[in-house]
Amino acid sequence: MDLHELLITPGARLPFRKELSLERLDFPGLLSFRAAPVGEGVIENSADVLTLRGSIRARLHCACDRCAREFDRDVEIPLDVPLATELQDEESPDYFLLEGDDLDLDDLLETSFILDLEPRFLCREDCKGLCPRCGADLNLGPCGCKKEKDPRLAVLEQLLDDRD
Ligand SMILES: [Zn+2]
Ligand SMILES: [Zn+2]
Repeated sequence: MDLHELLITPGARLPFRKELSLERLDFPGLLSFRAAPVGEGVIENSADVLTLRGSIRARLHCACDRCAREFDRDVEIPLDVPLATELQDEESPDYFLLEGDDLDLDDLLETSFILDLEPRFLCREDCKGLCPRCGADLNLGPCGCKKEKDPRLAVLEQLLDDRD
């Protein structure tokens, strides 16, 4: 994306809209995209400082990290990224570096998406997950594993104990 005109025109605004390439967007639990992520917004030259603002929207089809239930989730990732034409001091690492007058919009959008997305998907905040012993969905109620031992397991344990 060539920003030459924008760079030399204080007060200018340049709208953008771009669908993200899905190659780098590979997360555990993310099964597919119901709607591909699209970044949309405007780049503004305000007193010779360039800032990209907008958002990335997508509709994800995910599997819950705890109970494996599949569900859809809409995400909207806000963008507010200062752009810099040259390396700044390390005190302000949050800007995105241009290559000359050129902005790698794909890279900016994909990086923002990857950094901002939750690392694990849960079908709901308080998902209780599956019982590690019997595999029952604990969101549907307790499975009874903790309270009473499976009598067949108790017999097996007894047999193992007896061998000592
Ligand atoms: Zn769940
Ligand atoms: Zn159980």
